Amino acid sequence: MALSKKMCAAINSQITAENESAYIYKAMGYKFEAMNLTVFAKWFHIQAAEEQAHAEKFARYILDRGSEVTLETIKAPKGKWKTPKEICSETLKHEEYITERINKLVDLAREERDHSTDSFLIWFVNEQIEEEASAAELLAMVELAGTLPQIFLLEDRLLRMIGEREQQPAE
Ligand code: MG
Repeated sequence: MALSKKMCAAINSQITAENESAYIYKAMGYKFEAMNLTVFAKWFHIQAAEEQAHAEKFARYILDRGSEVTLETIKAPKGKWKTPKEICSETLKHEEYITERINKLVDLAREERDHSTDSFLIWFVNEQIEEEASAAELLAMVELAGTLPQIFLLEDRLLRMIGEREQQPAE
């Protein structure tokens, strides 16, 4: 069964949202580099690559269902962050926004009784639990540390967290 036009448009728009996420996380990564917080920067650059992989996963799905991918304009990241805390709190808000979008896609799939799309989206529903949890953890760490010198000391811990993440089997 082919994707409905409405479902295809909704998934296409999610590709844009994932690419926009990647763009925002790249900008955050560069901002952290400018602050000389290179491990935080690495974390955000890795996050950006993950978002691009999400966009790719949605694109593959549209193609597998015999429809066409339409790439749309990606907005420039508008964040004017001054502190690590501002970046981390925007990250959490952004992930909550992405979760809402994924939930709406599931609602649409269920409305249309499109069980294939419903099943495909479950991976993203679960992924968002992790994304929100890791964004919340990062924000909590930065808030606990408080000052910039203390945040600088967090980089060791963050580097270990990156190592642990990289050891997890890829999906
Ligand atoms: Mg994503």
